[in-house]
Amino acid sequence: MGNHLFDAIRASATSEDAIFIETASGERWTYGDALRLSGQLASAIDALGVRPGDRVAVQVEKSPMALMLYLACVRSGAVYLPLNTAYTLVELDYFIGDAEPRLVVVSPKARTEVEKLAQRYGAIVETLDADGVGSLTDLAREEPADFIDAARAPDDLAAILYTSGTTGRSKGAMLTHDNLLSNALALREYWRVTAADRLIHALPIFHTHGLFVATNVTLVSGASMFLLPKFEPGEILSLMPKATLMMGVPTFYVRLLQHEGLNRDAVASMRLFISGSAPLLTETHISFQQRTGHAILERYGMTETNMNTSNPYDGERRAGTVGFPLPGVTVRIADPATGATLSPDETGMIEIKGPNVFKGYWRMPEKTAAEFTQDRYFISGDLGKIDRDGYVHIVGRGKDLVISGGYNIYPKEVENEIDQLDGVVESAVIGVAHPDFGEGVTAVVVLQRDATLDEKAVLAALQDRLARYKQPKRVIFAEELPRNTMGKVQKNLLRDQLKDLYE
Ligand code: ATP
Ligand code: MG
Repeated sequence: MGNHLFDAIRASATSEDAIFIETASGERWTYGDALRLSGQLASAIDALGVRPGDRVAVQVEKSPMALMLYLACVRSGAVYLPLNTAYTLVELDYFIGDAEPRLVVVSPKARTEVEKLAQRYGAIVETLDADGVGSLTDLAREEPADFIDAARAPDDLAAILYTSGTTGRSKGAMLTHDNLLSNALALREYWRVTAADRLIHALPIFHTHGLFVATNVTLVSGASMFLLPKFEPGEILSLMPKATLMMGVPTFYVRLLQHEGLNRDAVASMRLFISGSAPLLTETHISFQQRTGHAILERYGMTETNMNTSNPYDGERRAGTVGFPLPGVTVRIADPATGATLSPDETGMIEIKGPNVFKGYWRMPEKTAAEFTQDRYFISGDLGKIDRDGYVHIVGRGKDLVISGGYNIYPKEVENEIDQLDGVVESAVIGVAHPDFGEGVTAVVVLQRDATLDEKAVLAALQDRLARYKQPKRVIFAEELPRNTMGKVQKNLLRDQLKDLYE
């Protein structure tokens, strides 16, 4: 038996000299470098006593060496467990206690504090900084590069990735070698990625988008990427003439549109722009197409499943939809109450089956059982519909559904109407406890700077557009919507801020 994921990666590199990573300052790492460095790191991890199946928790800045560490874990059979760099020590305590890693890798300045905490769980601590320097790379330097990869079957764990925590406490999703590989191969085909592609990578690498979608797809294509510590529109635009592909969250596209340098010339060498992790506004899609001639390709995925659906490469990329199920993936819409499969255009729970679907939540067998149907579909928690042309639409999260006076209100439907009003940038519709209705439909609206809309005007404009029970009871104006690092609107924060609105 080989190493399911890494054997495929190894076979995809076109040559030792092919570029894998380039940084903004022009430093380069070839596929040969990646092989040697990940081999040395795998030897170092092994020497530290990490055995196949052991977790390696990693909270480090984004850097080429951090990706080498990911590859080293895959090769040594360890379970890679990346953590958001924003997590505090208290949060780290939860993750380390929950995952019980054998090894924790953190930035050198965090070492002393993390060591105190890790000791309680019997974990060792090593360090790695943004420049690739630290105690772990010191150890690796002394090790041989020709590491013999641990045997790993398709069903063995490659990673535990914690969900973003948008709707509650983060859960650890157990992802197997084949979950990752099957998805990377499906995306490579679907998006036509080849060794000639050069990807702009400005996403964090502790999340499924930047780590698995961006990095694994690059690796199994033998392609290269510009690895940037963060998204800076000016820098991205100056790299575009050298790139062919970009993957971003919707806010990347919104911010590029605000930059006067975005035009057809700037994107002349670009082949494809991809968006995901949060809904892309139709208006963003249209403006981007007008300015650049490119229809952004929107796709849909989640930590637990990798990618599920994607707009087509050749066919129509329809704004406001997330396209079709990927090859090998089945998507169906179920009645949330009865579980019965619904017809086209009917809204219900999105359920997913395929080689991309995770093995379960780490140490949460009951939660895992509750999130799968009897016929083994994963209950995504997202509400949506499949239209008559087969395009999947996401209407919102089950937890964001508003129930007012006994009626179900899908926030997206109300948001779409509000967003179309002159002077509105965007909106978020939430349910807030209401003494008469159970929940009151409540709109939080962000206005353009010169807009003169007030609450009365918004409500008046919606009167003929929405059934009465869907109309907001109140409209609250805000400077901006609260978002996490992946650009997801944090409706839980809004619900919390406004919880006394109708008292
Ligand atoms: P948690 O599960 O901890 O509450 P989370 O669901 O935000 O957090 P992720 O797994 O990072 O954590 O995000 C997956 C979710 O992101 C999906 O379930 C979906 O709601 C949303 N999402 C991803 N892509 C899109 C998209 N293209 N359009 C709309 N929503 C999307
Ligand atoms: Mg989720």
